Amino acid sequence: MKTIRVAIDGPSGAGKSTLARAAAGELGYLYVDTGAIYRTVGYYACVRGMNPKDGEAVAAALPEISVEMTYGEDGLQRMLLNGEDVTEAIRLPEISLCASAVSAHPGVRAFLLEMQRKLAREHNVIMDGRDIGTVVLPDAEVKVFLTASPEARARRRCLELEGRGTPQPYEKVLEEIQERDWNDTHRSIAPLRQAEDAVLLDTTDLDFQESREALLAILRERTNGA
Ligand code: C5P
Repeated sequence: MKTIRVAIDGPSGAGKSTLARAAAGELGYLYVDTGAIYRTVGYYACVRGMNPKDGEAVAAALPEISVEMTYGEDGLQRMLLNGEDVTEAIRLPEISLCASAVSAHPGVRAFLLEMQRKLAREHNVIMDGRDIGTVVLPDAEVKVFLTASPEARARRRCLELEGRGTPQPYEKVLEEIQERDWNDTHRSIAPLRQAEDAVLLDTTDLDFQESREALLAILRERTNGA
């Protein structure tokens, strides 16, 4: 069976995962959050006390790491690290920068590439990340570059953290977003950039419903409602 592949890339905090999950539910596609697999490797490096920026140390540890992606009964993606469910642990704010640091190493990206491609061969997918349209699925049927201003992303992230009972000052959140943007766009391998054939969706001035409708309109048009 020929699968339909939707690639959604963009900077952190642009709403990719919430919007991609909603669109996947609507279209009946599998939603794949690729950031979670980099977070799993970042989590491993950090709990083992490694410097996540040390490419040699992280590469040397890869043979000890088994990363698996499964789907719970609720349909939500769960991450297993050497058999242990780390789905919640990888969301801790300190893991974000670890994930961003380990994801800059070529060995880490190569280690995780086939896992992502295999999912897209076996299912209709909406896959979100940084390099899905440029590297992982360069032939994806639909590519969307989803973005918003750093300030809008920081405001949304603050609300999300507040909702989770772990509020953080706006300035700190904005700084972290800017640091991750810089890391993700300046690394030499698979940097974050808009693929030439990607549709740009800027949600700075859109609320969730408007963003969702805009994304679904692009997907329906490009997949002919398939
Ligand atoms: O999407 P999320 O913020 O959870 O991703 C965590 C980190 O993983 C990002 O900051 C980015 O550095 C890295 N990542 C990546 N390539 C992807 C997805 C995420 O480098 N396809």
